[in-house]
Amino acid sequence: MDLLPPPLEGYVVRRVSAVAADKAYRCPGCDNPIAPGVGHVVAWPESRPEDRRHWHLHCWRVVARRGRIA
Ligand SMILES: [Zn+2]
Repeated sequence: MDLLPPPLEGYVVRRVSAVAADKAYRCPGCDNPIAPGVGHVVAWPESRPEDRRHWHLHCWRVVARRGRIA
């Protein structure tokens, strides 16, 4: 299984490993929690690093396939 998040034009995308995931987040893709200890994706617009959001890997894949966040 490929654990690398796919790119999205205009965004910086990083993998957060399970070990590094020490907080709970809410995924904007499905509006469900990402529990601590679950590897996931963090992404932000290149020009707006303050808008970083945490995504489930599968939810981020949907966004990347679509080619845009919303
Ligand atoms: Zn999600």
